[in-house]
Amino acid sequence: MEERKCFICQNFAEFTSSSQHRDNWCISCRICGRYEISLEAATEIRHVAPDQPYLLSWVTRAASERENPLTLVRSNLKELIDSIALPDSPLAVIDNLILYVSKKSKMADTPIELPVMDYPVAYAKSDREFIFLINKAIELGYLEKAGGYYRLGLEGWRRATELRKTRYDSNHAFVAMWFDKKTEKYREAVKAGISNAGYSPIIADEREFTGNIMDFVLARIRESKFVVADFTVAPEERVKFSGTDEPENAKTKKGTRGGVYYEAGFAKGLGLQVIHTCKKENMSINRLHFDVMQENTIFWTDDEIVQTTVRLDNERLYDSSPRNLSEKIYDRIIMILGRGNLKPLYKSTT
Ligand SMILES: [Zn+2]
Repeated sequence: MEERKCFICQNFAEFTSSSQHRDNWCISCRICGRYEISLEAATEIRHVAPDQPYLLSWVTRAASERENPLTLVRSNLKELIDSIALPDSPLAVIDNLILYVSKKSKMADTPIELPVMDYPVAYAKSDREFIFLINKAIELGYLEKAGGYYRLGLEGWRRATELRKTRYDSNHAFVAMWFDKKTEKYREAVKAGISNAGYSPIIADEREFTGNIMDFVLARIRESKFVVADFTVAPEERVKFSGTDEPENAKTKKGTRGGVYYEAGFAKGLGLQVIHTCKKENMSINRLHFDVMQENTIFWTDDEIVQTTVRLDNERLYDSSPRNLSEKIYDRIIMILGRGNLKPLYKSTT
């Protein structure tokens, strides 16, 4: 073991060589947590988001807190950074802090330490911002200070319970998609990816419900930990209705999935991670709305939805064999959210 500067945050960290891969380092950093990194990725790292060095600290630390440390290789660096749901306000960072304190506190009255080096656990950008937000959380009644330690205040308990209902305990993943015979294979591939990652896929037309469909859908999204939304379009067509041939009784179906946009936007507003997918074809790609074009979308082809087996072998990260859609979804979920608690319903190879 030796002490060297962490590749991500540049603070001193412990380095040991990886037992599995000769060219990899296993790093234990007080800020970024534990992670493994290939030599190639270590050289590449300073070119990835150079203005926002804290982004990688956020993802490595979150995975380390989940006891599921990440392996950074050249090919997943950018994907990792693009997959982060940036906190949209200081209040969102305070929410993360509350959840962290509530998870760490073994008993309600036991205070915990919040060293400044823990700033990535709340997705704060620096130790300074972390201290500032801790003080704001105290002002809001979320936290109480006891000596140099902290514990949740009454408001903090309330907020933590509220947040846990959605973000924390849920094993559900809502799938926003077009329901049609043509999308059957997509449906199976997405379900396999979600299920292999330990979550239960929720598809609205597979559940029984009474009342308004949209109320039902929005309630399922609220209960979910994350959403997978497919933005593939259908060809535009003129459809007749009212049983007449009059041209004014026909209307154009645009084929763009308005419902998917609505559901994805609703989920994003709730602070949920939304994984975007879209068929890799001109018709669909050209009609992606400007607002979602910047998202890190998983594009898929017909070939990639035939096979729904998820190869779990860690070696998959290092070889160049193509991933199918189930594997792409599985990888993204593991990377940004970690494994869920459910047993996979689908077969996988190890
Ligand atoms: Zn570090």
